[in-house]
Amino acid sequence: MAKERNSCVLRDLRQRPGNDICADCGAAEPDWVSVTLGVFVCQGCSLIHRSILSLNQVKSVLQDTFDDKETEFIASMGNDAAKAKYEQQVPAFYCRPSHTDCRILREQWIRGKYERQEFIHIEKQEPYSAGYREGFLWKRGRDNGQFLSRKFILSEREGALKYFNKQDGKEPKATMRIETLNATFQPAKIGNPFGLQITYLRDNSTRNIFVYHEDSKEMVDWFTAIRAARFHYQKVAFPGANDEDLVPRLTRNFMKEGYMEKTGPRHTEGFKKRWFTMDDRRLMYFKDPLVSE
Ligand SMILES: [Zn+2]
Repeated sequence: MAKERNSCVLRDLRQRPGNDICADCGAAEPDWVSVTLGVFVCQGCSLIHRSILSLNQVKSVLQDTFDDKETEFIASMGNDAAKAKYEQQVPAFYCRPSHTDCRILREQWIRGKYERQEFIHIEKQEPYSAGYREGFLWKRGRDNGQFLSRKFILSEREGALKYFNKQDGKEPKATMRIETLNATFQPAKIGNPFGLQITYLRDNSTRNIFVYHEDSKEMVDWFTAIRAARFHYQKVAFPGANDEDLVPRLTRNFMKEGYMEKTGPRHTEGFKKRWFTMDDRRLMYFKDPLVSE
């Protein structure tokens, strides 16, 4: 039977080097295959493919049947060939998500790679590779927690990310130096699927702001532009360093976060609940998870 034969061929193909890890996030033993692209993907990535109209032909290797045409196409493509085609020019600073990264990063990696083909046509990388970016983000207010639209400018030449409270304001409300900047997606904490926490140092203490953009591509373009600016800053600061050594220093997720009870320096003080963040080699605490400047 052709169908049974094809199922055997698919199971065999899945074991081949390259096809034994998810084409998009690197998770082991992917059980799904994109009939549109001819790549093997994990269940999490298969759900993202399925949600994108131009990529939505996804089948289960173990449960679905495949006709001869599909089988031949998948055999002729596979993960290594697709990688050579769609990942021709991925910038060193681009965040290649793993299966533990948040949905927004994984989805935009998949859309960028196959739908927009921005690693084949490098002019499509301009929104994050130009060294300058300006636009509006929703920023969480310090006092009432309301999100307000604020203008942001990222400039590699000035070495800073700034934001402005007033539309025509010339004086930025804050100037965040690129060398101290970090950005990490925090959807659960911020309560928005595209929520990004930006931290920076001012007067040697860590400050936070919490932002999002209602468009997930725009938000990831901001995130990638910050990584690009950090990358270029480090290339200048550490001439001769390998890209592989610089890339892990572009942005980082916090090592651990959560509530603990702490007491003050005097014995008479009671314990108070505080939000602790372990970042790099610093342990910080804040009055609540969303304390911003
Ligand atoms: Zn995956």
